[in-house]
Amino acid sequence: MGKVHVFNAGPCLLPQVVYDNSIEAIKDFKGTGVSVLSISHRTPGWDETMDECRALWRELLHIPDTHEVVFLGGGASLQFLYVAMNYLEKKAGYLETGVWAKKALKEAKGLGESQGAVAYALASSADRNYSYIPKGYEIPADLDYFHITTNNTIYGTEIKEDYDCPCPLIADMSSDIMSRPVDVSKYDLIYGGAQKNVGPAGVIFAIIKKDSLGRVSRYIPTMLDYRTHLDKLSMFNTPPVFSIFVMNETLKWIKSMGGVEAMHRIDNEKADLLYGEIDRNPLFVGTAAKEDRSIMNVCFVMAPGFENLQDEFMAFTKARNIIGIKGHRSVGGFRASLYNACTKEDVQALVDCMKEFEELKK
Ligand SMILES: *Cc1c(COP(=O)(O)O)cnc(C)c1O
Repeated sequence: MGKVHVFNAGPCLLPQVVYDNSIEAIKDFKGTGVSVLSISHRTPGWDETMDECRALWRELLHIPDTHEVVFLGGGASLQFLYVAMNYLEKKAGYLETGVWAKKALKEAKGLGESQGAVAYALASSADRNYSYIPKGYEIPADLDYFHITTNNTIYGTEIKEDYDCPCPLIADMSSDIMSRPVDVSKYDLIYGGAQKNVGPAGVIFAIIKKDSLGRVSRYIPTMLDYRTHLDKLSMFNTPPVFSIFVMNETLKWIKSMGGVEAMHRIDNEKADLLYGEIDRNPLFVGTAAKEDRSIMNVCFVMAPGFENLQDEFMAFTKARNIIGIKGHRSVGGFRASLYNACTKEDVQALVDCMKEFEELKK
C-alpha cells in the first residue's frame, strides 16, 4: 500500500520515530532485557522516564512552579467528574460549546444536585449547532470556577487565547494541547486526554495549580482526589506505563521540532492551506465561523447545490489513500484533523484531491 494520509480525529497519528522507539521498548526497555510492558513501575529506569516526561511538559509549556502535572487513567471523560469533585462547592459556570462541554457540565450538575451546589451554562452556541464560540457574556466573580473547552473537536471551533477570568479558570484542552503556547498561570486546571495530540489512548494529563486544591468541604474519594496524585507524583497506584512511555516519546519529538512555538507555526500553515482551498473551491464550504476556526479540526461540507456529491467525494479521497475525513454524525460532511504529527504533505494531498475533484466536475 502506498503512503496513507491519516486525518483521524483521535486516537491520532503519531510520528514514525515514536512508533519505532515504542517498538524497541516493547522488546527491551532501556537495555534492561525486559519489555516496557512488563517492567515494574517501581524500577529506577521507570522513575527516570516519569521525571523526564514531567520535565518535558514543564519545558514545552513553560509551566510555572505554582503548577504541577499529573498523569492518570480514565480518559478526559472521567476528568469531567474530577473537576466537579475537586472544585465545585457552591456554583460553577460552563461555556457550552459542544458535546464535550455538555458532558463536562452534566457531571458537575449531577454531583452538585446531590450536595446543594449548582452548575450551569453561562453561555451557549447550541442555537447554531456549536459553529461559533460565544462572546460578550459576563463571568460572575463569585463562581468556584469557569469551565471552557478550548478546542471543540466535533465542530472545528477553537478558543485561541487565554481568557482573563475574574474567577478560577479550568480548561479541557484535549484536542489542542501543544498546538499553541499557553499562559498556564491563568488556569487553575488544564486537563485532557493524550490521544488527540500528545500520545496514545490510555493516559490523561492534568496541569494543576497546587494551591487551588482543598477548597471544597466534601469528602473526595482517594482516587478522585487530585491531591493523592500530586503527593505521589502520579505513582499512587500503577500508572498507565506504556501510554506514558509513548507520550514521553511524543514530547521528545515535539521538542526536536522546535517546541510548541514551532508546532504552532506549522499547525497554522497546515490549517491555512486547507481552509484556503475550502474557501476557494466552489464545491466546498466550511461550517465553523471564520474567526473561531480550529487549527486542529477542519470541518467542511459540500456547498449548497453539490450535496449529492458527498459520497462520491468520499470514495474519491479513499481511492487516493486519504482516510479519516468523515465528519462527526452530528455535523455531517467532512472533518480533517490536522494534529501535530500530520504533515504539510498530508494536507497538500487532500488539497490536491479537492482540486482534482473540482476539475472532474467542471
Ligand atoms: C475526545 C475528547 C474528550 C473525551 O476524551 P476521552 O479520553 O475519550 O474520554 C473530551 N474532551 C474533548 C475536547 C475531546 O476532544
